[in-house]
Amino acid sequence: MALVLSQLSQLQFDNRLVRELPADEEKQVFPRQVLGAAYSYVIPTPVKNPQLVCAAAEVAALLDLPDTIFDQDDFAQTFAGNKLLDGMQPHACCYGGHQFGNWAGQLGDGRAINLGEVLNQRGEHWTLQLKGAGLTPYSRTADGLAVLRSSVREFLCSEAMFHLGVPTTRALSLVATGEYVRRDMFYDGNPQMEPGAIVCRVAPSFTRFGNFEIFSARGDIALLKQLADFTIRTDFSHLLAQPSSVIDSSVYVQWFSEVCIRTAQLMAHWMRVGFVHGVMNTDNMSILGLTIDYGPYGWLEGYDLNWTPNTTDAQGRRYRYGNQPQIALWNLAQLANAIYPLINRVEPLQEALGQYRNEYERCAERDLTAKLGLSVYNPAQDEALGDQLFQILQSSEIDMTIFYRTLADLPVYDIHQYADPQVVDIVRDAYYAPPGMAAESAMASWLRSYAQRVQQDFVLTGSDENTRRARMNAVNPKYVLRNYMAQQAIDKAAQGDYSEVKTLLQLLRNPYEEQPQFQRYFAKRPEWARHKAGCSMLSCSS
Ligand code: AMP
Ligand code: MG
Repeated sequence: MALVLSQLSQLQFDNRLVRELPADEEKQVFPRQVLGAAYSYVIPTPVKNPQLVCAAAEVAALLDLPDTIFDQDDFAQTFAGNKLLDGMQPHACCYGGHQFGNWAGQLGDGRAINLGEVLNQRGEHWTLQLKGAGLTPYSRTADGLAVLRSSVREFLCSEAMFHLGVPTTRALSLVATGEYVRRDMFYDGNPQMEPGAIVCRVAPSFTRFGNFEIFSARGDIALLKQLADFTIRTDFSHLLAQPSSVIDSSVYVQWFSEVCIRTAQLMAHWMRVGFVHGVMNTDNMSILGLTIDYGPYGWLEGYDLNWTPNTTDAQGRRYRYGNQPQIALWNLAQLANAIYPLINRVEPLQEALGQYRNEYERCAERDLTAKLGLSVYNPAQDEALGDQLFQILQSSEIDMTIFYRTLADLPVYDIHQYADPQVVDIVRDAYYAPPGMAAESAMASWLRSYAQRVQQDFVLTGSDENTRRARMNAVNPKYVLRNYMAQQAIDKAAQGDYSEVKTLLQLLRNPYEEQPQFQRYFAKRPEWARHKAGCSMLSCSS
């Protein structure tokens, strides 16, 4: 059993990125193009009065820390950036990116500062990163800070995603800085002072597609190769027979194909739980296939392929729910272009992009099968069954989470005894407005074909109603971080009451469990939240 540390000062750092990649020689912090370097050293800006809002024991455990560490005085100081531990080497990374389809040049960690890589007792490396800890050379015209509202959203959603089984960066802590930050939340010329906060994010690495794109765009192929080799040796070491194995073009191809596979799996996860990232720029795509950079994300309430939570994207809806798998592929194609100079052949890269499509299809079929409680996917029947369902969900306003959860209770044998309205009663709670006659009859007829399909599955596999319900409830979450729930926690936190943030973290630890004490959260979005800022409309201003 791993020993539990009792002091933050006992953390061991092994800062591979800093050690092995070239640093910016300029030590002053001012906005600039950083050439020939992967990162710049930068010290977090001290804040006035750091107060711990909430922390995640599961993430502390990754660092061999007990949750009692949260009560020690130096915890909030350290994760606000006021106090550096021995072994920390704070730095901000250089990256570029395609934003909304256009090459944007250098972006970089404008308000994220990596503190270093903790080496835990299982030999794992975990990079600690503060978000909102002050200016870096990559801050451009912005302030390097983050507000409480967006930090609460990032903290809670990172952990919610982890517990849902979706790959993600993690969040150790959320600290209020005791300072105020000026933000024009709706870009309408009405800036307000808002409380500031800092999240400490934790991941094996925070490398993005954009880290490769920037060096390639600048023609710095030596640095591109250095970063790719470093990434393979650290984040993808299983691709090498020996740590010292030579990395040739076949390894780059295997690596890219694994990035494609992981990204496909990530997209399938987002689609199955109804998560919309909101800003799928290539600088927000993790090379590890993790969900990264929680900004104006949202959760589907009414199932709608066209929905986007991001007001900045309301016109083109590039990053709408239904477009996410396609955008991820487009982003992978940008990464393929960026690493092409390491491979110099187009076909293997195209083949890997083809694997993305196959893997996404495979996962989407698997997830549909599981969400419907079937044992095997039978394309001849289930493709149509799925398509019909998605059409029905799309055409009325039907809450995705409540629909799948209540579908598990459909009595598949007794259904023929009931008239259409009673059949639809099983899922009626999921409707935002009572369905008209045509919609009700379409739903009833779908539920009847579904019940038949399930009966056939039972005959073939010997499965039964209880097994089916348990299987469905293990993949269809009962509780997700609905946008209005996060907003209620934010409103309280802004008054200095952090209880709702803690309650939501507790709730979201077990999204698939019944949790009767939290039944109140198994409910549709209330009407007041339909058009309320923060609940249905979010901007990139954070
Ligand atoms: P995003 O779309 O939020 O992922 O951010 C895109 C780029 O803007 C990244 O380079 C961020 O570091 C940078 N950025 C966003 N907000 C700020 C801020 N408040 N201060 C400095 N840089 C920022
Ligand atoms: Mg970003």
